[in-house]
Amino acid sequence: MHNHDEHEHHHHHDSEAADIPVDRMAVCPVTGDAIDTAEAEKLGHFRDVDGKRIYFCCATCVQLFDDNPNKYTPKLLYQCAECGLHYADKSKAKECETWCKQYNSCNLEITKQSVEYRQNHELTIEQKKAWYEPDILREEAPH
Ligand SMILES: [Zn+2]
Ligand SMILES: [Zn+2]
Repeated sequence: MHNHDEHEHHHHHDSEAADIPVDRMAVCPVTGDAIDTAEAEKLGHFRDVDGKRIYFCCATCVQLFDDNPNKYTPKLLYQCAECGLHYADKSKAKECETWCKQYNSCNLEITKQSVEYRQNHELTIEQKKAWYEPDILREEAPH
């Protein structure tokens, strides 16, 4: 059985993540890392599920997904139409949009939740997990 902690190797992606064009950005459903879909496609780091393409940050994650596809639900990214930041959580994107519209500037407390902010700050794997998919991880707990 694989363990999420084996995924420390993903840290090298962090420096590149900021350069991903937003229209090519997706989130690896295993680690929560931002990934370049064009790059993932080139490397074969994807699976087609129910007519929808899911992208992964690395071959290890593809393997983890193949081992247990039901465990990893792909996350759509939601974008604030005002400032353009991306969120894994639709309500957060809405919150950002509402704030941006009203004050014509971003609220750091909200934008801290954005994919872009996370990619620009060194978060530990533990923090990413807690932020990214608490329900699914809880579901996977042995008891
Ligand atoms: Zn990976
Ligand atoms: Zn915004």
